[in-house]
Amino acid sequence: MRRVVCPGSFDPVTNGHIDIIRRVARQNEEVIVAVLVNVNKKGLFTADEKLDMLREATKEFDNVTVAKFDGLLVDFCRANDVSAIVRSLRSVSDFDYELQIAQMNYQLAGVDTLFLTANPKYSFLSSSLVREIAQYNGDVSALVPPYVEERLRVKYAELAARRVGRRRGLR
Ligand code: ADP
Repeated sequence: MRRVVCPGSFDPVTNGHIDIIRRVARQNEEVIVAVLVNVNKKGLFTADEKLDMLREATKEFDNVTVAKFDGLLVDFCRANDVSAIVRSLRSVSDFDYELQIAQMNYQLAGVDTLFLTANPKYSFLSSSLVREIAQYNGDVSALVPPYVEERLRVKYAELAARRVGRRRGLR
């Protein structure tokens, strides 16, 4: 059984991620999309919110499951009998970072990393840009699925309401 993992932050999942997941699912028997729970970096969405959106995004693919992990990716690979990590490259700047991590994972546990080049249609797209646009009520409808767009709207409305509440509390 060839089982691979697509790890990432997915904060939130974008059309670029979904394009990669679709292509990886075509090439492999089983794919785990794994959300890194990073205790040192608070994301916009919680791990469970990210998982919810990823479940929706991947429900059309029979051989894709979603999971979260903390700690080392190579430990997740060992525990889940994963044969390779799949990452994607959008630009040369991605490559520098990815090469270092891939070599470290190979050194740590002999786990290979395979790379797919991003679809040029999405090579400009990142979760951080989506967050920035959505924060200022920009149109992200071409960048993320509709349910992610809605979650972004709700999340930023909640954060704005909380900020107003805090300001009122100070008066
Ligand atoms: P990380 O913080 O680990 O890079 P991301 O959620 O940003 O997590 O990315 C997860 C994976 O998805 C990475 O391999 C990344 O290169 C890939 N990816 C992110 N955005 C895109 C995109 N627009 N097109 C293709 N691949 C992408």
